[in-house]
Amino acid sequence: MQIVETFSPEETFELGRKLGQQSQPGQVYTLIGDLGVGKTVFTQGMAKGLMIEEPVSSPTFTIVQVYEEGKMPFYHFDVYRIGDVEEMEEIGYEDYFYGQGITLIEWANLIQEILPENYQEIKIEKDLEKGFDYRRITIREHGGGR
Ligand code: ADP
Ligand code: MG
Repeated sequence: MQIVETFSPEETFELGRKLGQQSQPGQVYTLIGDLGVGKTVFTQGMAKGLMIEEPVSSPTFTIVQVYEEGKMPFYHFDVYRIGDVEEMEEIGYEDYFYGQGITLIEWANLIQEILPENYQEIKIEKDLEKGFDYRRITIREHGGGR
């Protein structure tokens, strides 16, 4: 487990960028944190680290947004509005989770039962006692390897 403290959106972006840059094909990340905590900032950094120039925001109308132009495919899931894991089956999530791209899943706790054995959990939290722009980012490895 690794804890990174950031004190500005730029630092959170930079952490995402670094992780994106180091990512190996097939890697899955889950991204957990309340609204407004910095999940999109982090995701944009990760996209940058994957050499994606296209603007990245939250996939509002779809469960997954696919970016193909970077150094490997980037699958950005937001499962916040999902009713049932069957919706994941319908979009063929396994092709993404077990493919050769990078998968990032926001609100992954809602689809816990279909997460792969190996993934990295990124949790972003505020601590207002440490300031408005402070974030504690916990990176935890699940499963045996990547
Ligand atoms: P989410 O996607 O989790 O709802 P966003 O990334 O859209 O959150 O928004 C995070 C907001 O918090 C942005 O307005 C950003 O500027 C601000 N912010 C302040 N400090 C930080 C920090 N250390 N890391 C990330 N975002 C921060
Ligand atoms: Mg967001």
